[in-house]
Amino acid sequence: MENDNDAKMQNLNEYLLDTRERFCAINSDYFDNEIPDIMVRISDRLYSRIGYAHSNPLGIVLSSRYLEKYGWETLDEVLKHEIAHIYAYHFYGERGHRGENFREACKKMGVSPSARTNDLYVEREKWHYRCRNCGQTISTYRPLRSVEYCDSCDGTSDETMLIKVNKDQIDMPLNEFRKKVRPKINVYRCIKCGREVRRYKRWTEKHSCAVCNPDDFDNTCLMELVRNKA
Ligand SMILES: [Zn+2]
Ligand SMILES: [Zn+2]
Ligand SMILES: [Zn+2]
Repeated sequence: MENDNDAKMQNLNEYLLDTRERFCAINSDYFDNEIPDIMVRISDRLYSRIGYAHSNPLGIVLSSRYLEKYGWETLDEVLKHEIAHIYAYHFYGERGHRGENFREACKKMGVSPSARTNDLYVEREKWHYRCRNCGQTISTYRPLRSVEYCDSCDGTSDETMLIKVNKDQIDMPLNEFRKKVRPKINVYRCIKCGREVRRYKRWTEKHSCAVCNPDDFDNTCLMELVRNKA
């Protein structure tokens, strides 16, 4: 366990050094080193976003999850896009993706000005989900619908099912978390084929089984709420 953590920290540190070096190279290649020193962070909690830039203080956060998945081939473009946001905001007060200077900076670096990563000043992630097995939390900008399982743990069981948590429960010691936080999961079962679907939120309308009736709604084959606790 401790070795795993060490390896993870080492990875994050390497990404961090890489990112800083790349930032300096881009600043020198495209901006005559005029962009001031910014805060660079690598986060293993970014889930629905690859990266984002923030203004106060100026900084960029990249997702280690996506760095691992796609490497610098993809993340280099994201980093440049975020640097364009930093540049456009710092020198011209531009936010978002329509500013003239932002678009010019993107063009200069040969990257897309579209919002492939989330907007610069988007509100903080609101939805948090935590694995009861390893304790890792993931945060998303939009709520998850059907139940997801922890990426870091093996298998899809009740233990590795991500549980919706509030801010206080994110850093709760793991034992306490397991004891105190009861997962609220809605389980629906098809009254015909018995297939089960797990969801964080209840459906607001009736649903028929997508396996029995893949094409349309059938009132005689409904998904029935059978449990609302895991
Ligand atoms: Zn953007
Ligand atoms: Zn886990
Ligand atoms: Zn069915």
